[in-house]
Amino acid sequence: MQKRALVVGLGIAGMSAAIGLRQAGWQPVIVERAPERRTGGYFVGLMPEGRQAAADLGIAGHLHLRNPPDGGKAWSLTRRGTREPGLGFLHQPGDPAAVVRGDIEAALWQGIRGDGTSEPIAVRFATRPVEIDDTGADVRVLLEDAGTGAWYRESFDLVVGADGLRSNVRRTVFGPDEHYMTAWDAIICAFQLQEQVPTFQEADSIISAREGRGAWVFGFADRPPTALLTYRTEDVQGQFTGSRIERLRTAFSDMDDPVVRHALSSLEQTPDFLFDSVHQVKMSRWSRGKVVLVGDAAWCLNLYSGMGASSALRGGAELGRALREHPDDLDAALTAWESRLRPSITRHQRIARVKQQLFVPSNRPAEALRSVVLRLASAARERRSAKARTAKASAS
Ligand SMILES: Cc1cc2nc3c(=O)[nH]c(=O)nc-3n(C[C@H](O)[C@H](O)[C@H](O)COP(=O)(O)OP(=O)(O)OC[C@H]3O[C@@H](n4cnc5c(N)ncnc54)[C@H](O)[C@@H]3O)c2cc1C
Repeated sequence: MQKRALVVGLGIAGMSAAIGLRQAGWQPVIVERAPERRTGGYFVGLMPEGRQAAADLGIAGHLHLRNPPDGGKAWSLTRRGTREPGLGFLHQPGDPAAVVRGDIEAALWQGIRGDGTSEPIAVRFATRPVEIDDTGADVRVLLEDAGTGAWYRESFDLVVGADGLRSNVRRTVFGPDEHYMTAWDAIICAFQLQEQVPTFQEADSIISAREGRGAWVFGFADRPPTALLTYRTEDVQGQFTGSRIERLRTAFSDMDDPVVRHALSSLEQTPDFLFDSVHQVKMSRWSRGKVVLVGDAAWCLNLYSGMGASSALRGGAELGRALREHPDDLDAALTAWESRLRPSITRHQRIARVKQQLFVPSNRPAEALRSVVLRLASAARERRSAKARTAKASAS
């Protein structure tokens, strides 16, 4: 009989895991607490391993990429408020693909719905697990349908917790958030801009980073930019009292440059923004019995790493592969899956601390060092591009 899995969460990790499970011959069912599928979202740079996982999941062809030619122009704003050529997220090694989170989810959604060669995967909206009981023989889950108010029990051979940073599956099966979520004493606010910062080109990326604060604008080829405001604070709880916009205005009060001004005034007109504290999730094991966590629920790398979406895709693709390789031994499959993924997750969790300095330097010396490093890297990139242009011209 076909094995059944409950996947909790219709984000990148949940949909990737569901497609991976289907590839392994399982019958997944996804439950999502929201009443409908979300769209839009913030800038995401998809790295080569994420693109490879998308190909493995058979959804790469559905991905709408939005890279400006050559990664677009990136500008850094100096303390004097002047602009100088800079390095944007898309200029990293690996040529990240520029998308918004919703582009990845839309591509996965097409995979979920099936294409004639694969069965559509069942999705139940407004539904969440209330109790999860791993009996050893199966997992009995009490589910709540918020639409009808109905509660019902169902049995599965595996439960996949893909319900994000503050995972309810993790809390229920593995223990309280404090055991796994590390605090980074930082806040992010991500949102879409109605229009580009005045005087900049539509696809430009712009960065203004000072001690403890960073304002980023990510330009795309074919849609308005998105913005990210991030700042460090020792009073994370305090940031969630009163108006979020006032909190941001206070944090950025002495940065009166065009990017901060434009972002803050755009934010006032945006009903939809993400305002959250920054964490990583660290667990010594991502599965217990017949319950496994994937994506941010298991290993949240956080936004500074720039690898969360890529690793969520890879987690799902690798889960499918491990289950295919160990069709009759769930323990062996989950052990193989984890040992394949963990080295790269651990590496990216460490590197995120360094990358955080690029997004939001911790103090004045870090700010100065960051400027020097980026200036040198930007000049080196410019020299490489000029060389490539010359070689191309002499070849033609
Ligand atoms: C501002 C920002 C920028 C980022 N930039 C990048 C980048 O450049 N590159 C990159 O690779 N990554 C980036 N990331 C990280 C990446 O977006 C995340 O790692 C990834 O989206 C996590 O996906 P997920 O499916 O694990 O979790 P989520 O996206 O949080 O999805 C969880 C889903 O579970 C649902 N859910 C929650 N609780 C329940 C419940 N009890 N029952 C049912 N459903 C539930 C939620 O509604 C949601 O749909 C960024 C993140 C942020 C915040």
